[in-house]
Formats: sequence, structure tokens, C-alpha cells
Amino acid sequence: MELEQFDVVIVGAGHGGAQAAIMLRQLKFEGSIAMIGEEPEIPYERPPLSKEYFAGEKEFERIRIRPPQFWDDRAIAMRLSERVTAVDPEARSLTTAAGKSYGYGKLIWATGGHARMLPLPGGDLAGVQGMRTRADADRMKAAAETAAQIVIIGGGYIGLEAAAVLAKAGKKVVLLEALDRVLARVAAEPLSRFFEAEHRAHGVDLRLGATVTAIEGESYATGVRLEGGEVIPADLVLVGIGIVSAVQPLLDAGAKGGNGVAVDIFCATSLPDIYAVGDCALHANGFADGAEIRVESVQNANDMANTAARAICAAPQPYEAVPWFWSNQYDLKLQTVGLSLGYDQTVLRGDPATRSFSLIYLKAGSVIALDSVNAIKDYVQGRALVTGRAKIDPAALADISRPLKELA
Ligand SMILES: Cc1cc2nc3c(=O)[nH]c(=O)nc-3n(C[C@H](O)[C@H](O)[C@H](O)COP(=O)(O)OP(=O)(O)OC[C@H]3O[C@@H](n4cnc5c(N)ncnc54)[C@H](O)[C@@H]3O)c2cc1C
Repeated sequence: MELEQFDVVIVGAGHGGAQAAIMLRQLKFEGSIAMIGEEPEIPYERPPLSKEYFAGEKEFERIRIRPPQFWDDRAIAMRLSERVTAVDPEARSLTTAAGKSYGYGKLIWATGGHARMLPLPGGDLAGVQGMRTRADADRMKAAAETAAQIVIIGGGYIGLEAAAVLAKAGKKVVLLEALDRVLARVAAEPLSRFFEAEHRAHGVDLRLGATVTAIEGESYATGVRLEGGEVIPADLVLVGIGIVSAVQPLLDAGAKGGNGVAVDIFCATSLPDIYAVGDCALHANGFADGAEIRVESVQNANDMANTAARAICAAPQPYEAVPWFWSNQYDLKLQTVGLSLGYDQTVLRGDPATRSFSLIYLKAGSVIALDSVNAIKDYVQGRALVTGRAKIDPAALADISRPLKELA
């Protein structure tokens, strides 16, 4: 069997994979590097898929992480449209779906995840799809052009961003959320209520507590059935209910994990010379009081990639980067710093009616996270409060006449 040997093999040509290769070369790593990715594209930015790229405001060329020449110049071998199906940690090799084999000195697993789909009748009909890849976004864009009504299942960031793009383009959008508020997994109620009101004001038919029981249709989706029997007509159904991390080959090889592959503070898995970074990496996060979590953000993918690259270059530094995230909907820019997991108090800073405000999360009196909507100063200045876990009087945090930097 054909076997190609590399000093470092990176599986997954997304944010984490790309940054790992970039960082290795920045650290003057001179060995051979290959990046194996199941998508046909060289690494590109995923966030625009539900934002500017989906809206047609940015061409694909502009969302590439680096131009094609960059990878050639740094001798980073791209092996695209190849899916790794098995890892043999003893032989230090891996195999792909097409039966190719690669040998590695060090392996970086940066596979992210696949869009979670609905395990319901009709959930696999044509016209029902997730939004994770360029191919997904292209299919959605094309289908949306002729769709009279689009149903989005899931009121998380991706569902809300797609709803904003489609509503702005004049489409009829129904957004279904099973829980009693959107963004319930990641934000406190005032933020949820703010975004719900914004979407409704833009014409989105947003329904809470809406449990989907089936997708109707013969070969193509025609509607979404809710508990209680109502069928909402749909020419296109977007499912935005999270991801399933793509870690099965590593778990099969004996790596510790479950919902993700477990890594230590240097992003090393339990298998020798195998690292994991990004959305697929289950780690104890200091900004969540050491809880074992996966963080799905560009920041996390990039910073973990840097951590793994440093460990490989014998310059280890533990992963302790400050989490940050953003989301764009309509003319609203949400910026988040910290992780709100386990908060026991929130402070509203500013009035949501002005469409510029922040929501500050506290745990046992310390600031642990901050969501800012069109409030860049709060976001920038609030970072120090999060990193320092500052204990500040909630009344002072709520007082918009006092810049957050004065409180640090
Ligand atoms: C529509 C959308 C909008 C987003 N918006 C934001 C945002 O505004 N801000 C933010 O911070 N984050 C956002 N995210 C999340 C962010 O994109 C991810 O956290 C980030 O891409 C994670 O990087 P990663 O390298 O772990 O995974 P990915 O970037 O997903 O890359 C993983 C790659 O590995 C490939 N792969 C998987 N399994 C295999 C295999 N077995 N063999 C070979 N290749 C494989 C995948 O196909 C994929 O190409 C968004 C994500 C999506 C989908």
C-alpha cells in the first residue's frame, strides 16, 4: 500500500489545522508537514458562511485563511478531499477513506465537527441541511433564491445569523427554537430577549417552545411538523442545532474522550505524539473553573493550535488563552469575552432599547464574562475584568457613566 511519510501530519484543514501549520513554520520548524482535509478547499474562514459570504457580500477568495501560494511557499503539503478513517498509534500511521496511508512523527487532530442533523422522520430529505461548510452555504444560497419560505430549526448563533441574512434579503423566515428562549445555551435571558425582539422586528416569524417532530415531503422537504400537529410550509429547512465532534477514528484508536477527544494543558491527547485542537478538543478550561468542555470558536481553534505547535517545537506553553467570540446580525455586532458557564448573577449595563449595551456575568461576585452589543468600549475594557476575575460592586458595573477601565 502507498504510504507517504511526514514529520507532522495535521488532520483537518480548517481554522485549527491552518493555524497549527502557520505556527510551526513561524517557530522555524523545518520538518515536513502535511495537512489532510476532507473538504476540497484550502483552509478558509468559517464564520462568514452564515454572514458576509452567505449574504453574497464577500467572495470565496476573500475568506481564504491564506492565499494558495502561502502554503506552497512554506512547503505545507495539502492533501484535500481526503477523509481520515483510522489511526494506528503504534505504527504511527493513518488511513483514509480512499485507502491511502500516511506515516507521521507527530499528529495534530483538528477535525472540528459535522453539523448535527435531526434524527427524525424526514430528517434526511433533500432540502434539509446544516451549515458547516462552504458547500453547505453554497447549496443554501442557491436553494434560498427560489424558496418562498425557509424554516430554520435552532435559535443558536448560526440559525440567528442565517435568519438575519435571509430576512434582510426579503425572504420569509420561520425560526423554530425548542426551548423558551434563543441562545439559551450560551447567554442569559436579557440577551436572548433582545435578539428575539430584533428578529421579530425584521419580520422573522420566531417561535419559542416549538418542538419539531418530523420533516414532511416525498423526496424534497415541503414542511416542518410540530408537536401538536401543525405543519409549517417550507421550501428549504436549515438545521442549526450544533455539531457532532469528528473524533471517532481517534476514539477507536484508544484515545480518551467521548464528546470530543480529551487533551491536557498542552493539547496532547492520551495517545503518544497525538495532539488535538479546536472544536473537537475536550479540555479543562480555566475560564470555566476547570470544567471539561469543548469551545467552538475561532479564538479557541487558533490558540490551541499555537499551543500544540509550541509543544511540538519543544517550547511548551500551557493553554490558558482568554475566550472571545463574536456574532453579526443585521447592524448588530455582538462581542463576547470570557465564558458565562455557571454564572449566578448578571448585570445589565446600558439600555437594550438603545441597541448598545452590555451584559456582565458574575459568579460568586467575580466578573467571569461579558456580552457587548454595539458597545466596543465595554468589550475592550471589560476584558481585564474577566481575566482578573474582578470583584466589583454590581451598581458600579451598571453605571454607564463610569468606563469599565476605571473599575478594573
Ligand atoms: C456558519 C458558522 C459560523 C460561525 N461563526 C463564528 C463566529 O462568528 N465566531 C467564532 O469565533 N466562531 C464561529 N464559528 C465557529 C468556528 O468556525 C469554529 O469554532 C472553527 O472553525 C473551529 O476550527 P476547527 O479547526 O476546530 O474546525 P473546522 O474549522 O471545522 O475544521 C475542521 C476541518 O476538518 C475536516 N475534517 C473532519 N473530519 C475529518 C477527517 N476524518 N479527515 C479529514 N478531514 C476532516 C472538516 O471537514 C473541516 O474542514 C462558526 C462556525 C460556523 C459553521
